[in-house]
Amino acid sequence: LRVHVSPFRDYSGKTFGIVAVIRDITELRRLEKVRSDFVANVSHELRTPLTSIKGFVETLLDGAYKDPNLAKRFLNIIDFETGRLYRLINDLLDLSQLETNQVKLNMENVKLPVIIEEIMMIFDVRLKEKNLSFSTHFPENLPEVKADPDWLRQVFINLVDNAVKFTPRNGKIWIEAAEKGNFVEIRVCDTGIGIPKEDIPRLFERFYRVDKARSRQMGGTGLGLSIVKHIIKSLGGEIKVESKVGEGSKFIFLLQKAD
Ligand code: ADP
Repeated sequence: LRVHVSPFRDYSGKTFGIVAVIRDITELRRLEKVRSDFVANVSHELRTPLTSIKGFVETLLDGAYKDPNLAKRFLNIIDFETGRLYRLINDLLDLSQLETNQVKLNMENVKLPVIIEEIMMIFDVRLKEKNLSFSTHFPENLPEVKADPDWLRQVFINLVDNAVKFTPRNGKIWIEAAEKGNFVEIRVCDTGIGIPKEDIPRLFERFYRVDKARSRQMGGTGLGLSIVKHIIKSLGGEIKVESKVGEGSKFIFLLQKAD
């Protein structure tokens, strides 16, 4: 609580009363903390790849460049870390736009099977590399949804990217959709490592990861799900997750049915 007290004086300067203003600043404090935690997180996330890049560049300059094999290995690491920095900055820009409602949504009637077919072309190589199967399960008469196709693509890219990353070799990934009242319910499912129950409530927070080291190693930014949640909210839907460790995860969300 913040208390501000000021005396009331008459013309002669004599105090005849006081005004006390009592303000509950708990929420303010919480917001300040969220903001400063975010800045600390961003700085840390930016510094990690930069430290690595700088280290390898220095080693190369110190003479490692003379050994072509070593040089190639180091350059590959630099390339990987630069990619992560690039993604991180793009994700941060997306997130700040979404959070401040600055995105312009171009709502259209979208055919889910078409959009998913486009998306899956991006993942073709990685699915084959890990021998992951991919399928879709849509009813014959699935209605179109009302959404901004670009942002909706981003939702599927982030969710399928995670499914690919967190599903061991020979696993399965599939997408289901079904009409539900005025909405269409979509499920992005995998037979991956799953998510511990205690992590689920914080999963959609910025930079929250079950295993930070593992996420970084896979090139993750820790912002993917946070972006997904904001996009779906902007599209007028909501998202939740069901998961069992060692069995797999299902990301389930609603989108408005097209009229
Ligand atoms: P990241 O860049 O780490 O993938 P996200 O915000 O997309 O960041 O995801 C946050 C965390 O949620 C991941 O680091 C991982 O621990 C967990 N996660 C997300 N999707 C899955 C999934 N399909 N299976 C298991 N864990 C997942």
